[in-house]
Amino acid sequence: MTDFDYCIIGGGVIGLACARELSVKGSVLLLEKNDRFGAETSSRNSEVIHAGLYYAPGSLKERLCIEGKQRLYQFCSGFDVPHQAVGKLIIAPESGQAQLMQLLHKGRQLGIPLQLLDQQQLLETEPQVRGFAALHSPTTGIIDSHIYMERLAQQAEQQGALLLRHSQVISASERDYGWQIRVASQDNITDIHCAALINAAGLQAQALAESLALDRTAIPPLHLCRGHYFSYSGKNPFRHLIYPLPEKNLAGLGIHATLDLGGQLRFGPDTEYLPAGSAADYRVDPALAPAFASAIQRYFPGLNAQQLQPDYAGIRPKLHTKHETAADFVIHRPSNRPPAVHLFGIESPGLTASLAIGTFVTEMLQKQADEAHNTR
Ligand SMILES: Cc1cc2nc3c(=O)[nH]c(=O)nc-3n(C[C@H](O)[C@H](O)[C@H](O)COP(=O)(O)OP(=O)(O)OC[C@H]3O[C@@H](n4cnc5c(N)ncnc54)[C@H](O)[C@@H]3O)c2cc1C
Repeated sequence: MTDFDYCIIGGGVIGLACARELSVKGSVLLLEKNDRFGAETSSRNSEVIHAGLYYAPGSLKERLCIEGKQRLYQFCSGFDVPHQAVGKLIIAPESGQAQLMQLLHKGRQLGIPLQLLDQQQLLETEPQVRGFAALHSPTTGIIDSHIYMERLAQQAEQQGALLLRHSQVISASERDYGWQIRVASQDNITDIHCAALINAAGLQAQALAESLALDRTAIPPLHLCRGHYFSYSGKNPFRHLIYPLPEKNLAGLGIHATLDLGGQLRFGPDTEYLPAGSAADYRVDPALAPAFASAIQRYFPGLNAQQLQPDYAGIRPKLHTKHETAADFVIHRPSNRPPAVHLFGIESPGLTASLAIGTFVTEMLQKQADEAHNTR
């Protein structure tokens, strides 16, 4: 007998989305080491609902972003999550025309609504922005990710899931066709037995998979890539999110202007790969301000650099280095072990894709259960 059908390790947006979906199928326990859900990468991002334009054709990032975006807008409307389809402009200098046209072509093939603006139309749309041309993506939006995660948690609980904070998984091993999981909470250590395990531990997913003795060849290398944000105390001159063209290997989408739902303007994130073996460090060095100012002034020459203030940082769990082609999400289900799914490299657009990832994980586990049933 197991205590739970599913044990999810990690209470970020991905673990919570999985808990909501799996709690319809069976009993769910979610374990989060921090004192609140979503305290790591899930609350250190741009809170943008991405349209799905940038990712490799046929990749999980592309497919789950496009599916996730539609479902996220429906979820937000249905369950009262503050959000707004503000739209975004991708600004190209004259030398970036070809890249902009490639994005337009790709977006249209994917059915993503896009409009090409020439210099004059750009000026009429956003008078403070300078560029040779721009793409307008009206389905890009912003979301209050904290309320979104609260709603996911509430729904999972209403469907019977047990969600525990202050609960760190310190080891797990195979037992009786399932998993025995050792959990350290504030004042004790408990062993829990579950049938299937979901590793949604974000920046710690690789370390957790290693401790579970997952075949090393199935564990992709982790590269921590920090992105810093600066808030802007000046008046917000924009009506849209303003993005430059993305970096070549998608290390980042370029230092862009994002708004929160209160209208506060901030700029970021940049990309800084941390040295191998570094711990997650979220400091924002004020000395980065001049580099931010010069990147922003390429599309917003009226920026007052004195009004940039260090704000916060997030860390992307990248699976590729600065010089490699952008990696896809890796969602791995080992064969011939007790059921498990490991989620590696869930960087952007993980927030947008979260509901679709929850369904993808559920279907993977269902398929494994069906296969096991058929071989009996
Ligand atoms: C700078 C930046 C900007 C981004 N911008 C966007 C954006 O605009 N739009 C978008 O769609 N996506 C964006 N993303 C991506 C998005 O934030 C992530 O894909 C998403 O938050 C990943 O969620 P997660 O649940 O996998 O990870 P996390 O939020 O890190 O959650 C993992 C959880 O596991 C817990 N955990 C780890 N080990 C254990 C253990 N042993 N026991 C118990 N708990 C454990 C951790 O405490 C943590 O809470 C951005 C990311 C970054 C870094």
